[in-house]
Amino acid sequence: MQRWALILEAYQYDMQYRSSEQHRNCDSLSRLSLHEIEQEETEEGIFTLDMCLTISSQEIAIATRRDPIMSRMFDFTLNGWPAHVEDAGLQPFFDRRNELTLEKGLIWWGMRVIIPEMFRGRLLLELHEEHLGMSRTKALARGYLWWPYLDRDIEDMVERSSACAYTRNTPKESPLHSWIWASRPGQRVHIDYAEYEGHFFLVIVDSFSKWLEVIPVKSTTSRNTI
Ligand SMILES: [Zn+2]
Repeated sequence: MQRWALILEAYQYDMQYRSSEQHRNCDSLSRLSLHEIEQEETEEGIFTLDMCLTISSQEIAIATRRDPIMSRMFDFTLNGWPAHVEDAGLQPFFDRRNELTLEKGLIWWGMRVIIPEMFRGRLLLELHEEHLGMSRTKALARGYLWWPYLDRDIEDMVERSSACAYTRNTPKESPLHSWIWASRPGQRVHIDYAEYEGHFFLVIVDSFSKWLEVIPVKSTTSRNTI
């Protein structure tokens, strides 16, 4: 989602009608209600999270239980919220209480993981690594994480940044977001097509061992790829 958000900002595009057969995400509760598929979606969310952040989802889950406000929020989300909350720190979560869910020890607001206070500063710096400027940094954050006043924190940080000010009117070309190093073979593979003298090859490389599989193909359709 983060990549799409960045890529799409460069284009003007038209909306297109798709039949509901091909379009399950808008109503996934009824259209993708099989248990295995739900499981898959969560795995995918966790996978995206672990790829995008240098802090693992387990570390966030542990910190969530240790954070005084977030651990209370966790219990409220699990067991039900009171009619009102006294603690001002809980108020922003209370306002979203009907949109919060728990998965794998993490608290989610929609597709976004709520980050405990101890990691917010570090993630803010990570979001700012490439000096994307205000709106792109916000878009990047919006793809996968949230905490109260996140937008304000990003605004403060970007306004103080001279590098962001410098690049404000000269948009960077497709910024690179570095991958986390794989720790074992097969943990992550990168797949793409390569073209050479009119021939197409499906190239698969294991990011740990750099092992290559190169398969000549006649067509690059998704059906063929699968
Ligand atoms: Zn900056």
